[in-house]
Amino acid sequence: MPTSTPDPFSRPYWDAAAEGRLLLRRCRDCGRPHHHPREFCPYCWSEDVEWEEASGRATLYTWSVVHRSELPGFRERTPYVVGVVDLAEGPRMATEIVECATEIVGSAAEAVGCATEAVGCATEATRCVAEGLRAGLELEVDFREGVPVFKVRGDNGRGLA
Ligand SMILES: [Zn+2]
Repeated sequence: MPTSTPDPFSRPYWDAAAEGRLLLRRCRDCGRPHHHPREFCPYCWSEDVEWEEASGRATLYTWSVVHRSELPGFRERTPYVVGVVDLAEGPRMATEIVECATEIVGSAAEAVGCATEAVGCATEATRCVAEGLRAGLELEVDFREGVPVFKVRGDNGRGLA
């Protein structure tokens, strides 16, 4: 995920992330949590919203492999996996799935000329993802350079490479 530039509002979120804690926002009027952090509750528009630490647990909703990226700092990392996860508290969050990405890199690295022979690379990487990830897979938050990402929890789904 591209990192956001912290502003005064989102500063607590990024400060917590730098300490390895994932925050979400919970509305004190309707009680519903949300993510990505907003100043207003997206459900009832209340401004009475507070920070809350998330459990860090989530399940995988959907994902896709990024083979090409022009974003600075991301081009070198391709292929990597972006995903949408359902946090245990309820909110849906766009993020990066990291442990599978490591396996994909290893897999794709064996395909000589991966960068230019896109078909071979995509085939190899897609197969890896299909084996390692499935909807509903249990995930847990991890942090890379202060940015929340998700990895497969425990040995749930691992060892399939
Ligand atoms: Zn609300």
